[in-house]
Amino acid sequence: MTAPGLFPPGSTVGLMGSGQLGRMFAIAARRMGYRVHVFSPEAGTPAGQLADLEIAAPYEDQKAVERFAAGVDVLTFEFENIPAPSVEWAAAHCVVRPRGEILHICQHRLREKQFLADAGIPVAPFRAVSSRAELYEALETIGTPAVLKTAAFGYDGKGQRKIGSPAEAERIEIHAPSVLEKFVPFAMELSVLVARGLDGETAVFPVCENIHRNHILDVTIAPARVSAAVADAARGLARRIAVELDLVGLLAVEMFLLPDSTLLANELAPRPHNSGHYTFDACVTSQFEQQLRAVCGLALGSTELLRPAAMANLLGDLWLDGEPNWPAAARFPNVKIHLYGKSGARPGRKMGHLTALAADTDTAAAMVREARASHTKNSRG
Ligand code: AMP
Repeated sequence: MTAPGLFPPGSTVGLMGSGQLGRMFAIAARRMGYRVHVFSPEAGTPAGQLADLEIAAPYEDQKAVERFAAGVDVLTFEFENIPAPSVEWAAAHCVVRPRGEILHICQHRLREKQFLADAGIPVAPFRAVSSRAELYEALETIGTPAVLKTAAFGYDGKGQRKIGSPAEAERIEIHAPSVLEKFVPFAMELSVLVARGLDGETAVFPVCENIHRNHILDVTIAPARVSAAVADAARGLARRIAVELDLVGLLAVEMFLLPDSTLLANELAPRPHNSGHYTFDACVTSQFEQQLRAVCGLALGSTELLRPAAMANLLGDLWLDGEPNWPAAARFPNVKIHLYGKSGARPGRKMGHLTALAADTDTAAAMVREARASHTKNSRG
């Protein structure tokens, strides 16, 4: 008999959401002998292409969610914006990890910020805003520049506006509950992935340095080019948040590093994260395998970095003149090509990524950019 809550290889893992994070999760899970079922509103998805079973139904379809949950041993997520009732319907039929309350916190910026502040985790000063009068009040306490963010469904800078001066606020319409946050002049953006197992054991990955372009992650460098003291503090912060959340699963914590070495937590994602893609090729255990291990009740794997790495996203913009020249990128022997099986490249859409491995991070960062540029240069052949 297996211990309660333990789902060994051979079990069926359900996944809500079916994009590239789910695809790489499915690769890790199938490699370890698990069956993978995925649920999302679409068919033929990046994760569905690699799953044993793909269900295409709205998250709001209670019967479909219940049937799906009844067919799996344990359910997890690659996407936190699953409606709370859907998670409850599923939880009546199978084990759900991480628990629904964690999704509920992380899918709403205000709840997330309040949770962090209550737990004593440093965050940028913020105020809840749902009317213009509240915006003026909040601007008085927080000052400018500030950033106004919608509380729900924001990602990759969507639903965000910078407010440079109080006069600019006059032109802003508040359509939905929002958070006004002080604009922080950060020196660097960092992220840390942490896993926590059923027994409370935690495993923290190396700190990532993230470079954004147009609010979308462009390049991740691991390990981040920060002092050992900053790296330790960042990893400690992520670990504390995982414990405070009573997490079973994987969590990404995005942070700002200020010029005086202060760290502020910005966003949480209770799932694998774009900035952790490098772990697939560069760590003993990938973030996807770690998510699987955590939610299945297995011991966590080593997060050791095998080689310094850099990851560059491949956005749909690269497809403007047709399929990029992959053979050119393949000429870089230390670069790994990942494509997500998406049809319909659109500007800004994440279609794949490259990971470069090198003796040091600067070389890896230069190499991954060169490889990305190379495959747009020549016609294929
Ligand atoms: P978010 O959706 O909160 O992850 O924000 C997307 C990006 O906007 C971040 O990665 C930062 O580059 C920038 N940003 C968000 N909040 C702030 C802030 N309070 N101060 C400065 N930059 C910010």
